[in-house]
Amino acid sequence: MSLRNLFSVASVCILLILPCSAILADSLDIIPDSTINQIADSSIETASIETESESIYPLSPERKEMLARYSAFKNIWRFISFFLGLGIMALFLFSGLSAKIRDWAQVAKKKFFILWLYLVIFMTIDYLLSFPFEFYRSFIIESNYGFMNQTFMEWFSEGLLSLLLSALIIIIPVWLLYYTIEKLKRWWLAFSLGAIPFIVFMVVVTPVFISPLYNDFTSLEDKQLEKEILALAEANGIENSNVFQVNASKQSTKLNAYVTGLFNTKRIVLYDTMIKNFTYEEIKFVMGHEMGHYVMNHLWKGLSLVIIFIMFSFWLTDKTIHKIIHKFKNRLKFEKLADIASLPLIMIYLSLISFLFNPISNGFSRYLEHRADIYGMENTEVSGESAAIAFDKLSVYNLSDPDPHPFIEFWFYGHPSLKKRMEFVRGYQRQ
Ligand SMILES: [Zn+2]
Repeated sequence: MSLRNLFSVASVCILLILPCSAILADSLDIIPDSTINQIADSSIETASIETESESIYPLSPERKEMLARYSAFKNIWRFISFFLGLGIMALFLFSGLSAKIRDWAQVAKKKFFILWLYLVIFMTIDYLLSFPFEFYRSFIIESNYGFMNQTFMEWFSEGLLSLLLSALIIIIPVWLLYYTIEKLKRWWLAFSLGAIPFIVFMVVVTPVFISPLYNDFTSLEDKQLEKEILALAEANGIENSNVFQVNASKQSTKLNAYVTGLFNTKRIVLYDTMIKNFTYEEIKFVMGHEMGHYVMNHLWKGLSLVIIFIMFSFWLTDKTIHKIIHKFKNRLKFEKLADIASLPLIMIYLSLISFLFNPISNGFSRYLEHRADIYGMENTEVSGESAAIAFDKLSVYNLSDPDPHPFIEFWFYGHPSLKKRMEFVRGYQRQ
């Protein structure tokens, strides 16, 4: 887990949790990057996946074996990345590096710029330490399983862009955090409430100013499909201009669709990879599902949970962290939480708490996903069989395990297992 991911958990986590909760398939939840990362970039033509895609569905015995290996790897990686993130933060703390960075950052003189300089150095070192693991997980593994549509340089420069954007944006919540810690006794309450406008602002601007830095968002290219989808959207009170297609094939062959944005930037986004490999009926069901998220305001519901999570996490942190700092102060070389050198320790807290919070946040997300599936069945005329094929294709194309171990589903899945979703739509009786 890199710093960006940890921050996603903290307060920029809205960028992570919201789009994920609205995403159709679980496959992308595996790499818990922010939207910034998730919608990453390069420039390979769509044509490269053309030859392969014909043989992918239905599932061949070879691909079934691949699916099993990929799923097993992802399950192990959930734990590796968790402990890796903790390990890197512990290294910052107990080697005294965090305190050293704080000392170096003093050249910036003014408090705000000291925080910022600390953050830039900290994030850069974290990036370098995490790089081999990130490269292995996101480039090597994705290439080996045939998902990667980028060259190394394209993938690498996208990572640098994300680092740069994070360094520019994350200073705001970090400054607010240390400002409230220094000034207020109930800083955890003040910070959680103060973070709301920031989080809302980020969700509003991300689809318009950040995502387009990585991908092109256009109206649907297939005009016949557009006609059918817009008729469906309109029947459910969604305006034409709020449905987009994205050239996600630039980065990966994986299929997906999601709802993002708030107010005027709220939108449904379909991957070009999905449009290419799904029939109209299957796409219509996907649209029905996404419309469910859209119409039932799932983004606001997810956002509320995020605020509660932030508040709870920082309350718990405040109750326990001061004793830890006091106990290890000689080793850590800082004495107060208000010292910016404490940032890696706060990261460890957030990482642990969010890991333990997983069953709640994912349980809530699975509930919303189920509601969206019901909405999709109720508000489209797609047959249960077509909807089930859409889920089956998600499993086969994205190599996602349709039937994970119940514990893995309970702890890590933001969506019900594809097997359950298939059974549900097949057996669904419209009212
Ligand atoms: Zn969904």
